[in-house]
Formats: sequence, C-alpha cells, structure tokens
Amino acid sequence: MTSDRHRSNDVSALPSAPRITRRQALLGAAMLAAPLASRLAQADAVGAPAGGMVVLNGNENPYGPSPAARQAILASVGNAPRYADENIEQLRARIAAREGVDPAQVTLGAGSGELLKLCGLLGRLDGPPGELVAARPTYEELPHFAEALGLKLRWVAPDGRLRHDLAAMRGAVTADTRLVYVCNPNNPTGAAVTRTALASFVKSVPSHVLVVADEAYIDFVTEPDVATVVPLVKDAPNLVVLRTFSKIHGLAGLRIGYGISSPEIARRFGRLWLTWPNTTGIDAAIASHGDAAFLASTRDAILADRARVHATLDRLGLARAEAQGNFVFFDTGRPVKEFQERMLAQGIKVGRRFDGFDTWSRTTIGTSAEVDRFLAALPRALHG
Ligand code: PLP
Repeated sequence: MTSDRHRSNDVSALPSAPRITRRQALLGAAMLAAPLASRLAQADAVGAPAGGMVVLNGNENPYGPSPAARQAILASVGNAPRYADENIEQLRARIAAREGVDPAQVTLGAGSGELLKLCGLLGRLDGPPGELVAARPTYEELPHFAEALGLKLRWVAPDGRLRHDLAAMRGAVTADTRLVYVCNPNNPTGAAVTRTALASFVKSVPSHVLVVADEAYIDFVTEPDVATVVPLVKDAPNLVVLRTFSKIHGLAGLRIGYGISSPEIARRFGRLWLTWPNTTGIDAAIASHGDAAFLASTRDAILADRARVHATLDRLGLARAEAQGNFVFFDTGRPVKEFQERMLAQGIKVGRRFDGFDTWSRTTIGTSAEVDRFLAALPRALHG
C-alpha cells in the first residue's frame, strides 16, 4: 500500500460507476423501483437493531444506507479482491465537483476520524508539541489523540446558547497553539455558529495554526447563515474542513470520510495516510453521494422528528440547546446516569454524561417509530 495512489489526481480514465453483475443490478433495480416511502420503510426495517432495543446514543442514521448504496454494497462483492484505486479517484472527483474544489484538495479517510487524527499528526509534526484549543464539551477524538501525541489541551467553555465561544477561543490562541478544533454543529450540544462568525474567526487566527472545521452534521442545519466553510478554503491555507459518510448517508460502519483543504495540506495528508479505504465503503459512498432523493427524504424525516422532540421538551419545560444536528441535548434535571438507566429499562439507549453537564442527555433522532418510543418513555424516565 502506498500513498502515491491517493496523491494521484488523474481522473481522466474514470469509470462511470462501480462494476456490478447482472443479478446484482437486478436486485438493486428492484429496490430502486420501489416508491420512496417504502424505500424508507425498507431502510427502517433493515436498520432496526435486533431484540427491539432502540439505539439513540451514537448519532447514527438508521435510515441508511440509501437504496442506491445498498445496491452498490451488493455489487461490491465482485470488487473485494481488488484495491479500490479507480473508485477512490472517482469518489474524489465527484466530491470535488460537488464542493467546487480541485480533486487535489480532497483527501479520503477511513471515516473522518482518521482525518481528525491526521490533523493531530500535522499539528504535532510542526515543531515542538504545542497546544490545541477546543470547546468543552465537544467531540473528543482529535483532542484526545492530540493529547496522546503530547499536545496540551486548552478547553474553552461554550457561550450561553452552548455554541462555540469564538471570541474566547481566539483569546486562547497563543504562539504555542498548533491546532484549533471547531465542531460545527457541535457534538454533543448540537448548537452551531454562523458562517459569518466562523469566517471572521478563521481570518483572525495566525497562519501557523491549523484550523479544523468538523462538519460531520452540516447536512442537518436549518438556522440562517449556518453553512459549510468549504468556500473559505481557497483563501485560508491553514483551514481543513472535514465531512463524513457516517451521518446523513447512514454508512457509519463502512468508514468513509473526507477532508477539503489546500492542495499542500492534502499532499501532507497523503504522506501520512494511515490506511487504504475499503472497497465496499468507497462503492457505497459513490452511490450514496448521487442518491439525492434519499438524502432529501432522510433529512426531511430527521428534521420533522427533531422538531417534534423539541416541541415536547419545550412543553415539559426542559432546558435545551438549539439542535442543528441529528441529535438533541437537553437537561433531564437528574443525574444523566439515572436517566440513562430509566430509559434502558424501557429498551432505549441514550447518550452518556459530558463534562460539566451532569444532568444533560444527548439523544439521537432515530426513525420516526423510534422517536415515538422515546417520546412515550420520556415522562416515565423523568418522573418515574
Ligand atoms: N466528527 C464528529 C463531530 C462526530 O460526531 C463523529 C462521530 O460521531 C466523527 C467526527 C467521526 O465520524 P466517522 O469517523 O464515522 O466519520
């Protein structure tokens, strides 16, 4: 395995789709022919966990994979003996076209988790171990990896709406700072800062600092001016934007994510690349990337159920953040461990405790049927 394959930007000989057999194509075609509602129902049935347990603790999307991705997964059996070379280039080219960047600016990873770690390595390799600035609470994969590499963590509390406090984060940046991590929308709070605010922040950060904008949940945003910062990359060579196929695409188990950066940072990622992406994940991601109907219907379903959960939390008078991802963060009014146990007793797994938020729960928006079960169980878990 060499990273040369990954660094190659020659997309001139791209196949138009992953190779599939006639039988696999027929199977997939049958799924694609089904009306959208029944495709979502099929997805629901296949994604439902065994034993009736409702799993709302991992911010996954149980509607996935999309019908087209399911077809590609079946077809991908024939590609298993091969490395995914051509299809990797095809996926990079498609992402680049959609995002309006050059394929040389796109790095694929085994989930965006691999890319978070590559960012940590970049930060560590640039001189003596310095510091990483991040909000607390936030998604901890990069902060914890950076800490393991010897960087010091500078945590910054969120603002009153549980969004990143960008002014305070800017204040925490010093000559020793190597990395700033901005998770937008933030996991676990779900709250998001505007693109305008993030653009001023990125501009204000010295160029020796790598700014990592993690947009794992960007597809679920609804607030005005909360949007991707990919357009900023052309003027900010120290900005890396990370995305994943694990959330709206519902492909968490197949481990595909991507980063968009300057070509120079992408080249450095290419030299550090830890592993070669799996064939089935790449094939599924290509198909899902093109399945606009699935992505739109999944987003609609999750946003409608998120609004339903918000309305119930408000009716119950529970403090909450303004969720912009596929999960909600709210104050249960009791130690969250107790809330978790009461939910579990009713067959529902909800998220763990986060530092400084001992009574707050992060709960994923599952399928509509799962949300029904969560809402029915909620009063008993709060007061039972
Ligand atoms: N970033 C955020 C904010 C996440 O919440 C997660 C997973 O939950 C990831 C990145 C990692 O996702 P993956 O490695 O599956 O792409």
